[in-house]
Amino acid sequence: MTGVELYFSDIWSKTKTIIKDHDSVGKIIYDTYFDDSSLMDLSDARATIVVPTNLQKMVLSQKLQLISDSLHQVINRDVECEVLLASEVKKAQQTKVVEVSEELAGSDNVLPFYTFDNFIVGPSNKESHSASLACAYNPGKFYTPLFIYGNSGLGKTHLLNAIGNYIKQSDPNSKVYYTSSSEFVSRVVNSIKDNSIESFKETMNHLDVLLVDDIQFLAGKEKSHEIFFHIFNELVNNRKQIVLTSDRDPSEIKGLEERLISRFSSGLSVGMDSPEFETSLAILRFKMENQSLDSSMIDDEVLSYIATNFSKDVRKLEGALNRLIFYSINFGSGERIDFKTALGAFKGSSTSSDKNEISTTKIKRVVADYYGLTRQQLVSKSRTKNIANARHIAMFLCRKLLDLPFMKIGEEFGKRDHSTVMNACGKVEENIKKDSNYKQAMLEIEKILTQ
Ligand code: ADP
Ligand code: MG
Repeated sequence: MTGVELYFSDIWSKTKTIIKDHDSVGKIIYDTYFDDSSLMDLSDARATIVVPTNLQKMVLSQKLQLISDSLHQVINRDVECEVLLASEVKKAQQTKVVEVSEELAGSDNVLPFYTFDNFIVGPSNKESHSASLACAYNPGKFYTPLFIYGNSGLGKTHLLNAIGNYIKQSDPNSKVYYTSSSEFVSRVVNSIKDNSIESFKETMNHLDVLLVDDIQFLAGKEKSHEIFFHIFNELVNNRKQIVLTSDRDPSEIKGLEERLISRFSSGLSVGMDSPEFETSLAILRFKMENQSLDSSMIDDEVLSYIATNFSKDVRKLEGALNRLIFYSINFGSGERIDFKTALGAFKGSSTSSDKNEISTTKIKRVVADYYGLTRQQLVSKSRTKNIANARHIAMFLCRKLLDLPFMKIGEEFGKRDHSTVMNACGKVEENIKKDSNYKQAMLEIEKILTQ
């Protein structure tokens, strides 16, 4: 520690002692949220406090007055306090390096807190997880590019960075670079402006691993297409690893050149889906553990409620958990969170509506869950027996419960034509008649859908 850091740590530990003894902060709250905070900077007018988790940031930000009053008692002056996440500080420092040097070297942009260790695997993401791990384990050898697609909040950015972190750790000499496609575009634009495009291409061409997030934002940016195409080919030809993510399948990204789409599809494409109930519960438990929250702090019934109603994506799950804890600290007893507290916390907030109403999305999800498949598999081209069987059942249910036209159902299931859907529905009807196990499965699925 430098002298200044020692000075800060001394001030902060005295301040924390005052906070700890304050009436509005009990032992659990102090230990959970304040104990591992630190004072990163202190100027005449401002104090910057850093915490490891988002939840701590939220809680401390609600207690700024208390923090500032306590700090006043130690340093004898008023300062404005701000609370930052450790990851934000790191990112800000990294961005600064890039801005100053305008070089890629020295900053791989990989976000250190997204790793495979803190990624929970379940049926909805097991394909994308295992493909990512394979690429991380043996970069450039399995599939390049690996293309991961799925809706927002399902863990694409997390996996992409986990690949980067894994490779950096196993081979510190490996040149890894993470970027979003919009950042890539602005780098291209800036390099063209200041005549450094050749050196930009050169730097990119020498990477071992290129991770590009949200590639759909490359759409319509023609100059960037050309540069990206060039870099892409160079890396693939040299058996380097490229991993791309997008909110949709490569063929569905509008405004991308054909040659790019076909390149993107040339490796392996894997889809991610909304987490199932069990996975949602596992994620919630893991997030609590990660924030050093005792899992007995929240009733199981409450966790099930969140897992059922906020499982459209993982970001929503995390948000619901944070909201609940935040609410209980401010309005509850600050102790155990029961169902009543939970209902108070979520009053007025929208839960995923498709849970109560039957929709094609819900039918796909329930059928996929029932057969241990992903929604992507249901709409895929695959004719594997169990996938085709589940697909037929889902189509049949769309017809029976929603009374949709065959053509519309076909569109919903990977753009199949209406006769395929008609045949599928016919087959299901026959199977129900002749196979009692099949009929039983149908009844169970319908029950889940309508309850
Ligand atoms: P996307 O890029 O698909 O929009 P993110 O990767 O940003 O989604 O994920 C949103 C949040 O959910 C992040 O905080 C991420 O760490 C978390 N998350 C997503 N999937 C998982 C998972 N399987 N296990 C643990 N955390 C997850
Ligand atoms: Mg993302």
